[in-house]
Amino acid sequence: MPLLITPSIRQHESLFGYLTRVAEHNGYEDFTWILGLANIRARSNFTESDFAKLAIVTTTPTIKLFDSAHWLSKQGMKRYYFSLYSPKLCPECLKHNSYRHVSWDYSLITCCPDHGCLLVDTCPNCKTSISWKNCGITHCKTCEQSFTALNPKPCKPRMIAFTRQLISHIHIPTKQISYLAKTPPLSLSDIMKLVLFLGSHACFKKTHGTGYWLCSKLTNAEMHQLISVALNVLTCWPENFLALLNQIENTRQDTGLEKRLGSFYETWHKQFRKPQFEFLKEALASYAQNNWQAGFLSNKNKRLSENRLHSSKYMTLAETKKTLKLSYRKILELIDHGQLTAICSDAKSRTLRLITKVSIQGYLEGQKDIITAKEMRSILGIGERRANKLIKGGKIVPLPNRPLNRSRRYVFCRKAISRLAREIQLS
Ligand SMILES: [Zn+2]
Ligand SMILES: [Zn+2]
Repeated sequence: MPLLITPSIRQHESLFGYLTRVAEHNGYEDFTWILGLANIRARSNFTESDFAKLAIVTTTPTIKLFDSAHWLSKQGMKRYYFSLYSPKLCPECLKHNSYRHVSWDYSLITCCPDHGCLLVDTCPNCKTSISWKNCGITHCKTCEQSFTALNPKPCKPRMIAFTRQLISHIHIPTKQISYLAKTPPLSLSDIMKLVLFLGSHACFKKTHGTGYWLCSKLTNAEMHQLISVALNVLTCWPENFLALLNQIENTRQDTGLEKRLGSFYETWHKQFRKPQFEFLKEALASYAQNNWQAGFLSNKNKRLSENRLHSSKYMTLAETKKTLKLSYRKILELIDHGQLTAICSDAKSRTLRLITKVSIQGYLEGQKDIITAKEMRSILGIGERRANKLIKGGKIVPLPNRPLNRSRRYVFCRKAISRLAREIQLS
C-alpha cells in the first residue's frame, strides 16, 4: 500500500535522505518505519525485491531508488566507502534545498564545493553525532537546533578542488586526477582506495591494511584531515611519498622490505598491483634502491620492478655463487682478500653480504688472464723439466697464489707468458 504523502525523489538525492523525508511528511519518527511498512529487513544490503517493495510504498520508480543508493548502484564501490549511518550535511545547501545530497553519503566527501565549507556531522548545539534517528532533514531532534542556521567552517581551496573532482567522478566514472597528472586515469574507487591507503599510513602509526576501517571510525573533520595529508603525499610525487616511506619504515634491523615497511608493503602488494598503480610500484622500487640496504633488491622483491633488479649495483652471496660457479667459502675468501668488494650489514639473525657487480666483473676479466702451468708450457713450447728450471732461475715468474688456485702449485699471467714467447722467438 502506498503511503499517504509521497514526495518525489530529487535528482542526486541520497536514498536514506529521501526515506527520511518521506517519513517526515507522513509523521513517522524515522525511515525504519518506512522499511517496516515495505516489509524490508535489510539495513543497507537491499535486494532487487526490496527496491520493488520500496517503490510501491513510496510510488517512486525502482530504478530511481536504486540509483540513489550509490553503495549498491555505482560500479566498483564498496559499502565501506560510505558513511551511511552517520550522515553529513551542508547547512548552506539545506538552506536552498531541503534534501540530502547523495554525495554526502561518501566518506571521502568531507566538504561542499559549492559553499567551500566543511560538512557537518555533529550538532554543534547539543554535541550529538548526527544520525538518521536523531535528526530530521534540516534539524536536530535532540535539541531542535536548525541545521540551516549553522555557520560551517571554511575549507582550503585544495580540499574543495579535490572534492569537486570526486563529485565529477561520481558522474563520469573514469577521469584524470590532477594530483597525479602522469598516471593513467583512475576510477573513483581507485582514488578513494589510494587516498585512504596513503592517508591512513601517514596519519596512524599502527595502521592495518587499506584504511577502509577508518571510514566508519573517523568524524568528518578527522577524515578531512586524513585526506589533506594524503594529498600532500600525492602533490609532490614521488618526493613526498619517499618521505612517507621513511616515516613508516621500521627501525628494526631486518633485511626484508616486508618487515621494514610492515603492513604498508603487504597491502600495497595485495591491493595495488593493477597497471594503473604502476607509479606506486616504481616509486617503491626507487625507494628500496636508494634509501634501503644500499639499493639492493633481492629476488624476494620481484614484486618490485624486474628491470630495476638488473640495474641494481649489487648481487647477493647466492647470486655471486651462481655467477662465479664457486663455493660460498671461496667467495668469502675472495672478499677477505679484497678481490671482491662487498658491503656487509648485520641483520637480526644473519649477515647480509652484497657484492658489487663491478668487482665481480673485474674478477671475471682477471680470470681470463690466468693460465695453468700446462697452458704456459704449451705457449712457450717447452717441457715440464725445462719450465721448472726457468721458474727456479727466475726467467718465468708465476703469479702470487690466489685462493682459487691453491690446488695448483703455480699459475701464470697469460700476457706475460705470451710476451716471453715472442722474445724467445726473436732471440
Ligand atoms: Zn553546500
Ligand atoms: Zn542538537
